[in-house]
Amino acid sequence: MSDQRDVLEVDVLFVGGGPAGLAGALHLTQLIEAHNRAAAAGGGAPLGDVAIAVLEKASEIGAHGISGCVMDPRGLKELLPDYREKGAPIEADVTSDDLFLFTKRGQIRFPFLPPPLQNHGNHVISLGALEKWLGGLVEATGAYVLPNMAAVDALFEGDQMVGVRTGDKGIDRQGNRKPNFEPGADVKAKVTVLAEGVRGSLAKKLSPKLRLEERSAPQIYATGVKEVWQLPAGRVPKGRVVHTMGFPLDTETFGGGFLYGMDGDKLTVGFVTGLDYRNPTTDPHGIFQEFKRHPYVAALLDGGTILSYGAKAIPEGGFYAMPRLSWAGGMMVGDSAAFLNGPRLKGVHLAIKSGMLAAETAFEALLAGKFDAVTLGAYDSKFRASWAWQELRGVRNFHSGFEHGLWAGMLNTGLQLVTGGRGLGERPTWEPGHARMRTLAAAGVVSILLEQTQRGYDNERTFTKVNDVFHSGTKHDEDQPSHLLVSDTSICATRCREEYGNPCQHFCPANVYEMVPDGDRGAIKLKLNPSNCVHCKTCDIADPYQIITWVPPEGGGGPNYVHL
Ligand code: SF4
Repeated sequence: MSDQRDVLEVDVLFVGGGPAGLAGALHLTQLIEAHNRAAAAGGGAPLGDVAIAVLEKASEIGAHGISGCVMDPRGLKELLPDYREKGAPIEADVTSDDLFLFTKRGQIRFPFLPPPLQNHGNHVISLGALEKWLGGLVEATGAYVLPNMAAVDALFEGDQMVGVRTGDKGIDRQGNRKPNFEPGADVKAKVTVLAEGVRGSLAKKLSPKLRLEERSAPQIYATGVKEVWQLPAGRVPKGRVVHTMGFPLDTETFGGGFLYGMDGDKLTVGFVTGLDYRNPTTDPHGIFQEFKRHPYVAALLDGGTILSYGAKAIPEGGFYAMPRLSWAGGMMVGDSAAFLNGPRLKGVHLAIKSGMLAAETAFEALLAGKFDAVTLGAYDSKFRASWAWQELRGVRNFHSGFEHGLWAGMLNTGLQLVTGGRGLGERPTWEPGHARMRTLAAAGVVSILLEQTQRGYDNERTFTKVNDVFHSGTKHDEDQPSHLLVSDTSICATRCREEYGNPCQHFCPANVYEMVPDGDRGAIKLKLNPSNCVHCKTCDIADPYQIITWVPPEGGGGPNYVHL
């Protein structure tokens, strides 16, 4: 057992091995190679050895990768024009596209598809598989690709960010060192790019310190819950894409369903629920199970078998919620920076593009030997000049257009299409989603115990949260401190019970939060099951008192997503 902290020094560090971080690392190596080739041909001095690293909290690249996912290939084409020849794992090219309004027992097909929902030219993929493939390409360049390492703190020298510290390993539940204790490493870098994904824990810590969001509207989120199924042969052609609105949501809750045909008779089936819902008993996992009971979906799943399950929060705030993207020594890319096109439900192409722009900025900084806020501020300007910024600007009022429910949202979305994104007016949502949650009394609902909401799940087509966690392959070392930090559990047992009926039991899609009896006088207390956690970040976002903080558990823990 040693207290000696390893120090790894690199030039550019990408924190997170998702599409943004991996695209950034790969593009940086491309730029350096091109520069050095030109230098060798007599065009100036080469850049010399540049050390690049990608840190990833999962046990391997791609294990935490989850998305819808119908990918717009625009970003990938720019990164690797020959991505198909290079073996990119494309499940299918989109072959047909539909949008339905679901009623309880039937569906109405939209006669035409609004342009944002047209998917011709896009690919159905598994994000985890894409990440694995990109990770292999990055590794082949000689860059460090380091899974099992969760960044838990940012390192600063004065105002300059100089890298990150990774989490200690081998600490028991009570905080004591185990025989296998290993202190976290300091990974020092001239440029650190945060690519942690949605609601990144370092980004959350740094935001107030660096005032990254002082000019942004509060971020709005949704939670996507998804399963991949093996269907009887020929049931759904690969490349078939279906989006739905309506059932099982009420008209005041934002969200919708999706069904994507994958290769080998696999089907992606999922549902997105806005986390700015009013009813405190809203349960994204339960809504998804109900979606699978709709006759249209049930008929598709009949005779099929579940292969995997996962859940993830989605940044929906868009253009007005984008933070400042750079600071001295650092930049932010991908979902961490809210780069998601809400109506298209697509962010992978924006993640890749933002990673590439951050790489170009880091490359210029390395050439100049300067890593200050002004030099890295070029990334903000590059992003504003890019097609990614234009695309996000064009849908800037999408989510807020649904503030008054489904029908107003549809009308507003239609108007936005003909007014360049303006719709019924510029309407950034200045209220965070959790602030919209009504109390039980105001919402006119009674708290429903989790077992009641899950009663009747047949474990064939519909699953309890615990069963679905099993399908996610989630594993954590049980003997480690909880990575869900609840700053005042007395609120759970008193105010929250009374006011909101403990919504954590409902919004967590993995049954991590349970309220259990505390003595025999009717009192209750919070019981946490952190080892169930699928790292979706919903609790960190949706808790009405904002007393839950998600921090990374020991590196390597979490889901092991396959096909997602
Ligand atoms: Fe998601 Fe939080 Fe539940 Fe983990 S504990 S699965 S992050 S809601």
